[in-house]
Amino acid sequence: MQCEVCGGEIRGKPVEVVVEGSEIKVCQKCKRFGMEVEKWKPYRRKISPEKKTLVMRKRSTPKIEIIEEVIPDFNMIIKRERERRNWTQEKFAKKINEKVSLIGKIERGEMVPEPKVLKKIEQLFNIKLTERIRDIEISPKGKEISPTLGDIAVIRKK
Ligand SMILES: [Zn+2]
Repeated sequence: MQCEVCGGEIRGKPVEVVVEGSEIKVCQKCKRFGMEVEKWKPYRRKISPEKKTLVMRKRSTPKIEIIEEVIPDFNMIIKRERERRNWTQEKFAKKINEKVSLIGKIERGEMVPEPKVLKKIEQLFNIKLTERIRDIEISPKGKEISPTLGDIAVIRKK
């Protein structure tokens, strides 16, 4: 099933959250945009029918921003790709014209490579180390941005 906020495929159990009075099913990442249904239940009982209509009418489309983020297990992927080619860290460092110490830090996950280094690694191994995630800001006066199908694709390698 798909997440109703980011449109991405939900792995595992969907989380039911309440966003501005509506219950929706979202992925683990998007649950922070709403209040978990269990926590919301005590409030829901207090809302009278008239008030509920008001809440519904005030509902607006969240403002969606797409940002690129380095995937959490980037270091494992880089290490795996290097080992697959039987390269030493030295050889890998030379290929991308960076210091061996930097490679070590990256592979241990001690640091996130800066964008230009990331690009070099991506091109070298022909892999993707970033994913597009949506940052959603819920504001009642926010302009409506409808996501297109292309925006929904979440790039993620396991
Ligand atoms: Zn989501």
